[in-house]
Amino acid sequence: MFKKILIANRGEIALRIQRACRELGIKAVMVYSEADRDAKYIKLADESVCIGPAPSKDSYLNMPAIISAAEVTDAEAIHPGYGFLSENADFAERVEKSGFKFIGPTPESIRIMGDKVSAKQTMIKAGVPCVPGSEGALPDDAAIIKRTAKQVGYPVIIKAAGGGGGRGMRVVHTEAALLHAVQTTKAEAGAAFGNPEVYMEKFLQNPRHIEIQIMADQHKNAVWLGERDCSMQRRHQKVIEEAPAPGIPRKLIERIGERCVTAVKKIGYRGAGTFEFLFENGEFYFIEMNTRVQVEHPVTEWVTGVDVVRTQIMVAAGERLPFVQRDIQIKGHSIECRINAEDPYKFTPSPGRITTWHTPGGPGVRVDSHIYANYFVPPNYDSMIGKIIVHGDNREQALARMRTALAETVVEGINTNIALHRELMVDAKFMDGGTNIHYLEEWLSKRVR
Ligand code: ADP
Repeated sequence: MFKKILIANRGEIALRIQRACRELGIKAVMVYSEADRDAKYIKLADESVCIGPAPSKDSYLNMPAIISAAEVTDAEAIHPGYGFLSENADFAERVEKSGFKFIGPTPESIRIMGDKVSAKQTMIKAGVPCVPGSEGALPDDAAIIKRTAKQVGYPVIIKAAGGGGGRGMRVVHTEAALLHAVQTTKAEAGAAFGNPEVYMEKFLQNPRHIEIQIMADQHKNAVWLGERDCSMQRRHQKVIEEAPAPGIPRKLIERIGERCVTAVKKIGYRGAGTFEFLFENGEFYFIEMNTRVQVEHPVTEWVTGVDVVRTQIMVAAGERLPFVQRDIQIKGHSIECRINAEDPYKFTPSPGRITTWHTPGGPGVRVDSHIYANYFVPPNYDSMIGKIIVHGDNREQALARMRTALAETVVEGINTNIALHRELMVDAKFMDGGTNIHYLEEWLSKRVR
C-alpha cells in the first residue's frame, strides 16, 4: 500500500479523498491555490503545498506545479478527484512518466474514452448498445451527411467528439437546417476543444439518464456496482441523483451491467469508471464513459456498502478487488442533493462568506462538504459546496429522511439552492419516480414563486 498520496483537487472531493487516506493509514498531501489557503481541510492535511494563484489554469490545472509538489513531498501516487485534470490523458501520462502512480485508468484508456467517437466505436465492438447514428465522425461530403440523417431519422443531434460538460451539441429537426448546424458545431468544437470532429446521433425525445458504476483491478477482475438515476438535470448538469433507478426491471439493469463488465475486461480498463446511458422505451443507449470518480458516488456506496474511493486507491496500489460480483447486493435506497452556492430561483452564483452552517444528522444522513461557519466561498470555482446524501430501507423512507435533513439545514451569508431541493422533495411527479431528463427544466419553467 502507498505511504503517501497527493490529492490534486479541492473542496468536498479533496476532503473525501483525505478521509479515505486517513482510514487506510496513508499520509495525505493537499495542494491548494491562494484562494483556498485558509480552508480547514488544508490545515487538517499531513502536508500541504501552494501551487499557484486562484485561477484554475494557474493552480489546479497547472501540471508542472502539481508534479513538483509530489516530488518535494515524496508522494507515491496522485489522486485527481473529478473535474480539473482527472480526465486529462496527458496529465496521467506525465504523472506516470515522473514516477508516480496515477489513481485512475491508463492514459490510453482515458484517451480512447475522452474522444466520444472512439469511445462509441469501442463500445459497439464490445457489444454495448449505443444511440443509432453516424459510423464515426461525419465526413465533409454534404450528400453523405444528408443521407446519414435520413437513415438515422429526424430529429438528430450533432455532437462534438471532444465535447464535455454539456457543451458542443446541436439538435436538428429538418434537412434544411442540417448542413448549417454541422458547420457551426464543427467551428465551435474546433475553437472550444481543439478538435473540429463531430458525429451524429438520433435525438431521443424523452430519455432518462441512467449510469452504471464499474470498478476494475489490474488482475483482470471487474465488477459493476449497480446503477444511478441522474435524470434530474438543469442545463445538462445533475442536481439530484439516486440509486437504484426507480421502476426499471432488475433484469434489464443486470443485462446492461454485465455488458459494461465485459467491455471493461475487453479494453483492459482499471480503476473506477462510469458508463452513462440514455434509457428510453425499455432500451439503454450508451452516450459516454467517465474515467474517474463521480460527484454522485456516495449513493452507490450506500446501497452497495462498497467504499468507492478506498477501492480506487487499493486497486491503484496493485491490490485485487476485495469483492466479487455476487457480493454486490443492492440494499435500500439512496438519494443525493447537490448543494450549490447560487440563487435558488435565478441560479446566479453566490460566492462569499458563510456566517451560519448547520448541517443535518440522524439515521441515514451523510453530509460530504468542506464548508464551516466563517468559510469564504471563492468565486473562482464550481458553485457546488457540498452534498446531502440519505439512505432508507426504501425510496419513501429515503425521501422522508431527505425532507427532514433539508429542513434541519441552515446556511446563512450566501444563497444556496436548498429551497429548490425542498420543493422538489414534495413534488408529486418526482415522488412517483422515473422522471425524464427534461422534467426539471419543464418544472422550473412553470415554477411559481
Ligand atoms: P457531455 O460529455 O457534454 O456531458 P453527453 O454525451 O454525456 O455530453 O450528453 C450530455 C446530455 O445531453 C445527456 O445527459 C442528455 O441530456 C443530452 N443528450 C446527449 N445525447 C443525446 C441524444 N442522442 N438524445 C437526446 N439527448 C441527448
